[in-house]
Amino acid sequence: MPKILKPARMEKCTGCGLCELLASRLTKGKLSYSGSFLQIRKASSGQPYFKAIIDYGQKTDYPEVRDICPENCYDIEEG
Ligand code: SF4
Repeated sequence: MPKILKPARMEKCTGCGLCELLASRLTKGKLSYSGSFLQIRKASSGQPYFKAIIDYGQKTDYPEVRDICPENCYDIEEG
């Protein structure tokens, strides 16, 4: 089984965007929210929570992305 980046603790996410930017830099070589395989969005309007939308059609198990999150939201696990 391939390993995947799993948003395991998104209730702790502050929406800082660091994971999105690093994911983009690792895969596209540039800092861009729109070019990232990982997008952080408000879970729903009016709620203080965020969700991670991850494109699992490509490699996602970057330990750098897991480790940059200041809130420790991610795990890398078998998908
Ligand atoms: S780095 Fe962590 S806290 Fe920041 S947006 Fe990503 S998941 Fe949320």
